[in-house]
Amino acid sequence: MSRKTKLIVTLGPATQEQEMIGRLIDGGVNVFRLNMSHAKHEWASQMAKFVREESEKRNAHIAVLFDLTGPSIRTGELEKSYDLKEGDQVEFRREGSKASVPLSTTVNYPGLMGDVKAGNTLVVDNGALLMRIEKVEEDRVICHVLTPGTMGSRRHINLPGVRLNLPALTEKDHKDLALAVECGADFIAGSFVRDAAHVNELRHAMEGLGGESQIVAKIEDQEAVRNIDSIIRTADVIMIARGDLGIEVDFEDLPILQRRIVKRCHELGKRVIVATQLLESMITNPTPTRAEVTDVMNAAYEEADCLMLSGETSVGRYPERCVEALVRIASRIERSGGHGFGQNVILSDERQKTARAAVTLVDSLPDARLVVLTRRGILANQIAMMRPRTSAFYAFTPKEAVCRQLSLTRGIRAFRMPYAANIEETVERATEHLRNLDLVRTGTPIVVVSDILSDHFAANSILLHHG
Ligand code: PEP
Repeated sequence: MSRKTKLIVTLGPATQEQEMIGRLIDGGVNVFRLNMSHAKHEWASQMAKFVREESEKRNAHIAVLFDLTGPSIRTGELEKSYDLKEGDQVEFRREGSKASVPLSTTVNYPGLMGDVKAGNTLVVDNGALLMRIEKVEEDRVICHVLTPGTMGSRRHINLPGVRLNLPALTEKDHKDLALAVECGADFIAGSFVRDAAHVNELRHAMEGLGGESQIVAKIEDQEAVRNIDSIIRTADVIMIARGDLGIEVDFEDLPILQRRIVKRCHELGKRVIVATQLLESMITNPTPTRAEVTDVMNAAYEEADCLMLSGETSVGRYPERCVEALVRIASRIERSGGHGFGQNVILSDERQKTARAAVTLVDSLPDARLVVLTRRGILANQIAMMRPRTSAFYAFTPKEAVCRQLSLTRGIRAFRMPYAANIEETVERATEHLRNLDLVRTGTPIVVVSDILSDHFAANSILLHHG
């Protein structure tokens, strides 16, 4: 596998058969996402088990990501959906209150009336209906409809630019979190994370349940963008959740924000996922549009760690073709180079400076391999963020869980290997492993980076030897 860009696939009715999960792994998927907005608990546990079983069969390190619903604002249950035309007045009222106009629905967030004001835009159903708030009363918000459409039950509401006082985690999130920990999730994603405190709250709740997952912060609104630095520093991984973010900001700002966030993640040494609508048309069509090819190419060129498919693989007709399309586009653009944001990584300690020296060394040697010995994956991730040019970049770690957590790190292929008592033997074992897989030949230069010299002495080290 020489592709560097990693792939996340969302499981759903189109991909829930165990055999299909196996085929998707063979096709190049690195991480499977369970979207808890739709998944029932029994189903999610079953999917996590299928992923583990299919990975074990192939001796592959494939991760499971539980994506929590988060505090999303939704309309209530309607007996019958109704049509809205431009200029109509529609109200969103607190649960338990009576309708004051014919076109009315409840809303699940009682704090809404305190957070919004007249003039704010209200978006229903992921952009399908646009409204302007005209009046805010104690128990209802009256809106003027700007675009025609249909109001249905449990529709998602966005309020671009409005600072919402929603909690970080709902009751449902706490239950889903417990399941994620029980299933040994490698990653847990928090939705609508708005500041670093939200990331910390999720991490503490997860740790309180005895979990060891890494935390993904989904950037979905303007407040998260304002607090991006502290969120990046606090989370393990950032997801640019373009579905919601694309509604919360002006659409022409989205590509600029994507680029800015990817660049900042590089600088601060955190992994980044570009998500949503990468191949939206392939939900029904067997090939991507030209615009989608260009969008995927752009994300791979920005050297994001991971690309994520949602509806394309959860409910789409062509899940395997979608994976194949991402593999083909990413592999192609990787041959042409990338943006090079890895040059801007802020080197704040000796370990990072050692890592930079190793990357410079390996990139200056023709046909060299880069090997990192990493117990917790931290050193491996730091090196990966510098975006070494070599596609022969291998991590050796004694822990299976670390191998899985490296599955969304760009460019790395991880192997589980117990360390020997001394560095020479560990390096020899790693080299032997690569030789057996035909990944090094006699005389191939191998740059080994490690901060575990021996059991008695730990220091950052770079070692150059030959296969
Ligand atoms: C998104 O909004 O892009 C996203 C990934 O979140 P979800 O699919 O959970 O809405």
